[in-house]
Parts: sequence; C-alpha cells; structure tokens
Amino acid sequence: MTKPHRIDAALQWGNAQLTDSASPALDARVLLCHALAKPLSYLYTWPDKEISSAQLATYKTYIAERQQGRPIAHITGSRDFWSLTLQTSPTTLIPRPETELLVEAALARLPDGACGVCDLGTGTGAVALAIASERPDVTVLGCDVVPEAVALAKRNAKRNGLPNTHFIASHWFDDIEGRFSVIVSNPPYVESDSHYLNEGDVRFEPASALTSGKDGLDAIRHIISSAPPFLKSPGYLLLEHGYQQAEKVRELLHERGFTEVETIQDLAGLDRVTLGKMHFA
Ligand code: GLN
Repeated sequence: MTKPHRIDAALQWGNAQLTDSASPALDARVLLCHALAKPLSYLYTWPDKEISSAQLATYKTYIAERQQGRPIAHITGSRDFWSLTLQTSPTTLIPRPETELLVEAALARLPDGACGVCDLGTGTGAVALAIASERPDVTVLGCDVVPEAVALAKRNAKRNGLPNTHFIASHWFDDIEGRFSVIVSNPPYVESDSHYLNEGDVRFEPASALTSGKDGLDAIRHIISSAPPFLKSPGYLLLEHGYQQAEKVRELLHERGFTEVETIQDLAGLDRVTLGKMHFA
C-alpha cells in the first residue's frame, strides 16, 4: 500500500479497509473530516491536498476502531438529527434518522401557543430538542432513567441554545408531574432475543435503550397504561415502535381509551410511529 498522504488516497484506502461496514465510503469521509476537523465540502474541494502525518495517524486510528465495529457516532462523538448537531455517548441510543418522523408527527399535533411536551426516555435529548427548536413558545420536559443521558441531553440543549427545555432523571412517569398537550417517546422496543442485537452499531449501544421484554413491548405497554393522568384534554401520545408492532400498539391505545388512533410510515415505508388522542368528558 502506498502511503495515503493525499486526501483522495486516504479516502480510497479507508474505503478499502472497511469491508464489514454497510457504508464504507461515507464512513471514510466522515472519519477523515473528523481527523482533519474540516467539513465534508473540504474533501471534495481539495482531493489532492496533502494531510500531515499526525492527521494521518489519527485517521488510521479511527479507521481501525471502525473496523472493530465501533459506531461512527461514538468515534466522532456526535450525530446530526433534525437541524441539530448532538453529542452522543455510549450510555444511550445514537439518534436515528427515522426518529425524525416522531418529531414531525408531534409538531403537527401541537396546539397553537404556549403548551407543554414531555419526551420519555430522551437519551441524547434528540426528540425533545428538535421539537423545542421548532417551537420556542413550547416548553419541553425530557426524562431518562440513565443519569448520564440526562446530563448529555442538558449539554445538548445548551450547545444548541434551547432554553425552553428541561431534563430530569425519571423512570418513565415515576418522577414526572403535571399534564402535557403531547407526550412522545422512542422507547426500547426490540425483542430481547432478536438476532438484530448481535449486528452492527447496536452491539455498542446499551440494552436499556434497545430491548424491552420478549415481544419488545414492555416499555410501550407501561407508557400507554400510565399516560392518561399526564395528558391534557385533548392530548396526544405518540410512540415510535418496530415495523411489525403497529397493530399491537394500536390495540393497546384503543384498550386504554385513546381515540383517533393511527400509524404513520417512515421514509422506508415501514410502520414506525403510532399515536392516539385522549379526550376526557
Ligand atoms: N430504533 C432502534 C433500532 O432500530 C431500536 C430501539 C429504539 O429506537 N428505540 O435499533
């Protein structure tokens, strides 16, 4: 191998190393940007630019870590979500693009004017912060049972300049007070014996953010049964779930007295978010 001292050669080399990745070329670009502390456009503009030995060494370390399976977001320490750049950490889930659907659906159901939103199991704060960024007049409370996640979400709120958010440690509703116009959650929902847990990035994410009992629905069942006293009338509960869980989630919402229950598909056409409306007489 010739020494990849030029940007184009370094990218080609990195791409060739990442045989186990589903996106080797993109991974190489993101890791080189991180090593150079430059944006993606820099790589396209200066393909023949020489990089320093120190930068090359850093890049090689990142490529080696990625070869071991470590998620890109853990190597770079951040992930873009919605219009925000969020810090990530191995203590919680890496934000996924499909979760932006939960944000869109929540925004579409928020009443005009000041009101409250609650995000259960907020992790990095992704959903709470994205909603807060679109609606400065809305106050968003995010909670997580993992104290490190709460601290991370608070940092992300600060870095993105979103003062209309609060984060607290709470196991689902246990330490929540008040009523909200909208409650959202991207809870753990993968079946505990799923093969999916042994593949790719999820191997490096905490089980507490991924799995929830044999059928994956333990957290969703708990949230649906506990939510009504925390909702205003009218109020909405919106849940992300696995692509094969929509029917069951709709059933649980109906059983608990929710109306206007519907499922929304993500960009891949998969059932991803199910929601219901609560209206007290
Ligand atoms: N969406 C996750 C995944 O596909 C599963 C857990 C979650 O998002 N709540 O890995």
